[in-house]
Amino acid sequence: MGGRHRVTLIPGDGIGPEVAAAARLVLDDAVAGIEWIERDAGATALAEHGDLLPEETLEAIRASRVAIKGPITTPVGSGFRSINVALRQELDLFAAVRPARSLPGVPTRHGPVDLVVIRENTEDLYRGVEFAAGSPEAEALREELRRLAGFEIRTDAGVTVKPISVAGTRRIVRFAFEHAKANHRRSITLGHKASIMPTSDGLFLRTAREHTDRGDVAFQDMQIDHLTARLVREPDRFDVLLLPNLYGDILSDLCAGLVGGLGLIPGANIGWEYAVFEPVHGSAPDIAGKGIANPIAMILSGAMMLRHLGEGDGASAVERAVDAVLASGAVRTADLGGSSSTMDVAVAIAAELTP
Ligand code: NAD
Repeated sequence: MGGRHRVTLIPGDGIGPEVAAAARLVLDDAVAGIEWIERDAGATALAEHGDLLPEETLEAIRASRVAIKGPITTPVGSGFRSINVALRQELDLFAAVRPARSLPGVPTRHGPVDLVVIRENTEDLYRGVEFAAGSPEAEALREELRRLAGFEIRTDAGVTVKPISVAGTRRIVRFAFEHAKANHRRSITLGHKASIMPTSDGLFLRTAREHTDRGDVAFQDMQIDHLTARLVREPDRFDVLLLPNLYGDILSDLCAGLVGGLGLIPGANIGWEYAVFEPVHGSAPDIAGKGIANPIAMILSGAMMLRHLGEGDGASAVERAVDAVLASGAVRTADLGGSSSTMDVAVAIAAELTP
């Protein structure tokens, strides 16, 4: 018998299986009828199937359209730059959404912070257009650049190309405004360095300015360096941050730091067809297998997934239960100064779900 919602679950590597089991326990308590299709990716998949990103894992995500994954380790020298980047490009998951909000009982430097980073996920310097220093391709590129416009690149330079397109920008801008409107957000701040890179960042900014379907959402833009300085001083002045790929990667970790660390921050990668939810943190090999990882980032990723599946009540219930457990402070993992296990935290959160 199929459940009401089919979800592909990729436990992943390192602490992934531990936080995945914890999230599954909570999500099954919050919403009845989730049918889990478990598949491998990363080092676990390499050992089991000889492939870091097996086709059957991609097929399962395409069939269920929604997946939740733990972190995966990309073995160095595997030929993959990153399995996560490959997954995002393969499924065209063009929008990364990473909310960072102050949580009860977790001390931070600033007052209440409630930010959402919306990051373009497929273009920019992460597109993978790389020319190694000294390679014949880099040499051909140097000659072409000289011929085209008289650019002189040093012979020993490696080159990474930064493509940002109108089509790629339009869809992330539209996504950001729809997200802001649907979630009753006040404003969007776009970060860029258009003065230095007018053809890529400038295009991103100009294309966003042309978007007129803004509803009640205010729009401003800021040079990325200025935005970074403002964020660390007065994060409560910002709401949604809309960023090209590289700046989005960096600022989402900065925002995680503002509200108490990697073990707490959920994330979503969303495209027109598919959605993959995952915590922002990695596989944490230093604590893997000990049962002490904080499962909250994975559980909150699960709450984002429930909302995406139309289970808004279940999603809010999970978020309230996480808040209640953090506020009481009795059950918390070592990264938050406690001594509870991963499963202790999951059981405490599940207990809060039951009235
Ligand atoms: P990491 O996030 O795994 O760990 C950084 C630090 O944070 C470590 O000290 C770790 O113990 C701690 N930490 C992370 N998550 C935690 C949690 N839930 N509870 C308690 N402590 C936690 O980053 P890293 O060490 O740079 O990367 C390790 C591996 O993870 C690498 O192979 C990297 O490629 C991979 N990675 C994967 C993803 C992903 O799959 N989305 C993201 C980032 C890194």
